[in-house]
Amino acid sequence: MHDGVEVGHVRFRDGVSAAELLRYLRADARDTGGVVERWSSPPTVRMVAGSTAQDGADTFQAVRLINSALPANWQLHFDDTPTARTATLDPGVIKVGFAPREQWPTSCGGPRTIGCAWTQRVSGRLTGAGVAVDDARVTGERRRIAVLLHELLHALGRGHVDPNAIPNTIMHPSGDLGESEHLILSGLDVAALYAVHDRLQPGESGDFDMNDLGPWSDVSTHVFGRIGYIPGRYEAVMFGAVWQNGNVRPWALAFNPSVLSQRPSGRASWAGRLLGLTPRAETVAGAADMTVQLATLHGTIDFTGLERWAAHAGPGTLGTGTQWGDGDLNYRIAVQGAVFHDIGGDAGKITGIFYGSNQQRIGGTLRRTDLAAGFGAQRQ
Ligand SMILES: [Zn+2]
Repeated sequence: MHDGVEVGHVRFRDGVSAAELLRYLRADARDTGGVVERWSSPPTVRMVAGSTAQDGADTFQAVRLINSALPANWQLHFDDTPTARTATLDPGVIKVGFAPREQWPTSCGGPRTIGCAWTQRVSGRLTGAGVAVDDARVTGERRRIAVLLHELLHALGRGHVDPNAIPNTIMHPSGDLGESEHLILSGLDVAALYAVHDRLQPGESGDFDMNDLGPWSDVSTHVFGRIGYIPGRYEAVMFGAVWQNGNVRPWALAFNPSVLSQRPSGRASWAGRLLGLTPRAETVAGAADMTVQLATLHGTIDFTGLERWAAHAGPGTLGTGTQWGDGDLNYRIAVQGAVFHDIGGDAGKITGIFYGSNQQRIGGTLRRTDLAAGFGAQRQ
């Protein structure tokens, strides 16, 4: 227990093996001219002019899911300034538009195609890309996001692979979208996004072996926390981080998201804990305190008393670790409906959600190049 919050730590063999990853990457390279294509630096995703707010929101969701798998120093940017609705590509940009198939570039696939991606490349290095989805042929928001995920992975250089040889990916030519309709990427797609952008060079030939990939293990390290648990009631916030081969990814989850509304005056505060992992798999823990001014819906979130323990070891009793960094991280945040995000302060990206009918709980994630952490807190 850390200050009334349950904390835990576990190592699992739940990852993708090096053999499975190599089999996928080689099959992928065979589909794209014998090289593993990628961008040399992270592109910006932009919507074409005339896109609706829903088009932008669905694309942002897909980008967020892809970013959760990419290395912290290789994140896609999302820019909501529209770009021209033409087949011409902009350097450094993946342009995304929803349009009937008849308006797509002629290079795009057959009459049953629901989405298409096209790219520009210089010796295996991608320099521009476009994505089009035919709205009339895709029903439901989850399916729209799943199709976007498949097309955005094409735009990042991934090809198609044979579903019989490699079942656990959304990159099948049939458009069988697997787990992505539950808005999660498969373990193999997550591992490939990380390996391609952290371990391989742009235009790397597809005949690589383990030496090109570097050390790769199928064992993951997890830390997790739970706040507000009452047996039989769905009121807890769970949060934590996962370490796999040097990539650390934060998570947080709870039930019943709710909107924090503006009021003429007053403020609301939440107190809880943060728990995460460094890229070397050291556990980091600290206090999490958030305050929001209800008139402006702006506020602050502070993580204090940050301490760390040895790599791959669990969190010890409070006060038994060594100080992490200078011991605290401070951010300014803005609320938009049921969610909040950072608008300034220390380096890093914060996103979080309010839960419960009176926003009794918050849960969220912090991602920096030196730390990935989840946090949960209860209203004071
Ligand atoms: Zn495809």
